[in-house]
Amino acid sequence: MSWLSTLEADLQARREQGLYRSRRLVDGPQGVHLSVDGRQLLSFCSNDYLGLAADPRIAEALRDATRRYGTGSGAAHLISGHSSAHHALEEELAAFVGAQRALLFSTGYMANLGVLGALLGRGDTLLQDRLNHASLLDGAALSGARLKRYRHNDIGSLQRLLDGAAGRVLVASDGVFSMDGDLAPLNALADAAGRTGAALLIDDAHGFGVLGRQGRGSVNAAGLDFGQVPVYMATLGKALGVAGAFVAGSEALVETLIQKARSYVYTTAMPPALAEATRASLRIVQQEQWRRDHLQGLVARFRDGARSIGLQLMDSATPIQPILLGEARTALAWSDRLLERNILVTAIRPPTVPAGSARLRVTLSATHSEAQVDRLLEALQELAA
Ligand code: PMP
Repeated sequence: MSWLSTLEADLQARREQGLYRSRRLVDGPQGVHLSVDGRQLLSFCSNDYLGLAADPRIAEALRDATRRYGTGSGAAHLISGHSSAHHALEEELAAFVGAQRALLFSTGYMANLGVLGALLGRGDTLLQDRLNHASLLDGAALSGARLKRYRHNDIGSLQRLLDGAAGRVLVASDGVFSMDGDLAPLNALADAAGRTGAALLIDDAHGFGVLGRQGRGSVNAAGLDFGQVPVYMATLGKALGVAGAFVAGSEALVETLIQKARSYVYTTAMPPALAEATRASLRIVQQEQWRRDHLQGLVARFRDGARSIGLQLMDSATPIQPILLGEARTALAWSDRLLERNILVTAIRPPTVPAGSARLRVTLSATHSEAQVDRLLEALQELAA
C-alpha cells in the first residue's frame, strides 16, 4: 500500500470538521432560478452579477460564431490559434478600459499566474493584500519572487513593507474582494506604490462590468488610469457571463506577456466563438445601464433588510453581501436551512476565508427582483429568530 491509503482518513477528518466540499449538480441555464439536484431553487450565490450568463443574445452570438469558426481554436495563440475573433475582442477590451493593449487569457486564474511569472523572478518583491484571491498567491509562489502580505486594505502596513522591499516591486490587490465584497483603497494604493516606484496590479474580477462608467470597473470608478494602475486584470466569466480573462496595460506590458507568460504561451487558445460571444456581452454591458442601476437598488434593499434583522454584514457596497457567521458548521447549518426553503446560498469556509470567519456569501444579480430579495430576507429572519 502506498501513502495514498491515507487519503480516506484525511477526507474523514475534513468531514468531521465541517470542511468537506462537494459539488451540486446544476441542470439547465445559470440564472436566479436554478435547477439543482432535480430541485428548483432561488439562487443567491453566482457571480453572474449582470444576469448575462444565459442571455439569449449572447448564446445566439456563440451559435453564429461556431458556424464561422468551428469549436476548437486548434493551437496556442503563438502557433496558429490566434483568430480574428480573439483579436477583435482584445481591441475592444483595450478601448473600453482605456488601455493601449489587452491580452486574452483562458481563465482569470491563468492570467494571474501568467502575469506574475512574466513580470517577476528571484530577487524581486511582491506585496499582496492578505485577502487577495488564491490565484494571486499561487502566481506569487510560481514566480519565485519574495512574497509579503500586508494587512487587509491597510496602507500603513503596505508602506512598512514597501520601505524594506528589494528588487523590482509589484503591489497586487483585488479591486473588489471576492469573499468580502469590499473595495480596495485604490487611490491610496496607487499613491503608495507610485511614491516608491513600485508597480501596481489590480485584479478586478468582481468589479469589471459592475462598477465604473458603463461597467469599466473599479479602477475607472476610482478615477484612476493606466499611469497609476499599469497592470489591470479582469475576468469575463463573472459579470460578462462568458469565460476567460484579460490583462490590459501598455504596449510593452502586453508584448512582454506574449513573450513570457507561461500560462499564455503553453496553452491552447480559448475557442474563438467564446471571444465572439464575449464581444456581444461587452456591447450589452455598455448599453444596458439599467442592469447596474437595478443591482445597486437591490444591494441597498438587501442591506437595509439584513441590518433590521440584526445580521452581521460586511463593509460592502457591491453585489457581494456576505453574512458573517463564524464557525464553518454554523455557516453550513444556515445554508442547509435556506435550502429547506428552496433558496441556494453556499457556505464559504476556511481555507477560502480565515478560520472563524465562515459566512454565507450572498450575491445579487441584476435579474433578481425586489420580491426575490424580500423572500431571501424573510427566510433569513426565520433563521435568525
Ligand atoms: N481573481 C479573483 C479575485 C477571483 O475571484 C477569481 C475567480 N473566483 C479569479 C481571479 C479567477 O478567475 P477565473 O474564475 O476566470 O479563473
